[in-house]
Amino acid sequence: MSTSNAPTPSATAEPLVRAVNATKAFGPNEVLKGIDLEVQRGEVVCLLGPSGSGKTTLLRLINQMEVLTGGRIWVDGELIGIEERRGRLHRRTAKDIARQRSEIGMVFQRFNLFPHMTALGNVMEAPVQVKKVPRAQAKARALALLEQVGLADRVAYYPAQLSGGQQQRVAIARALAMEPQLMLFDEPTSALDPELVGEVLGVMQRLARDGMTMIVVTHEMGFAREVADRVIFMDDGVVVEQGSPNDVLLNPRQERTKAFLTRVRHEAEARERDVLATPPTEEPQGE
Ligand code: ADP
Ligand code: MG
Repeated sequence: MSTSNAPTPSATAEPLVRAVNATKAFGPNEVLKGIDLEVQRGEVVCLLGPSGSGKTTLLRLINQMEVLTGGRIWVDGELIGIEERRGRLHRRTAKDIARQRSEIGMVFQRFNLFPHMTALGNVMEAPVQVKKVPRAQAKARALALLEQVGLADRVAYYPAQLSGGQQQRVAIARALAMEPQLMLFDEPTSALDPELVGEVLGVMQRLARDGMTMIVVTHEMGFAREVADRVIFMDDGVVVEQGSPNDVLLNPRQERTKAFLTRVRHEAEARERDVLATPPTEEPQGE
């Protein structure tokens, strides 16, 4: 949802992310078949689609964890991975790619924290190692970020001592520590027990409200409805349909979108029944 302190995306502003005919193949398997995408500054885009439709691959391309097979992607006005010099395209240097990637924070389904570091250590690591931020400064910023995600009292805990929801919030703080312009979330709550989903979505909602540009792969329809400025439905490597959350989620035009939404709704209902049928579990480190 565009909000109070979010920068107002104007019609003329250059998008923060622009993909033109982006394609990706793994060997003979064409996974993305020409994606066109624009994400404005301050915009929150939810990306939906069945498993295998190419959502993760698209995020990984934007973050240069994969290399495009064809087409172009710009982030903040710069071509990623390649640059044009004297009319010819050149692969960027590793250093240049690292600089581009440092503008982007990514949060994965599995939290991928360093197990041998505390929450604080995890959040401080990249600014100190990559950005050469002085330790004291990195520590102050990490503490503020951990407080922002509701973990002020868990800074000295190791990942194994934290619940999944807490680990995921550390992962979000860790990504934010690099002061990214763009945050990519790849099904950030799908590995969580249902009762821990809300605390992570709450952190993401506040981030959106503060104006962060976000691309969020999620099956959480409530989140998409409330927080997304735009919803994109992908299937089989193409964008099938996009529009406002109301348009896509409540009045989908394409049969593939309708079928997907019906299936997700049934799955959510089934999960709800499971939760109601299961006695609450003990949370070792409860809030
Ligand atoms: P989604 O996130 O929508 O479930 P993915 O982007 O993970 O979809 O995968 C899309 C397709 O690309 C799948 O068929 C998957 O098997 C294939 N794929 C993804 N990564 C690789 C890879 N590194 N090598 C080969 N095939 C891959
Ligand atoms: Mg995926």
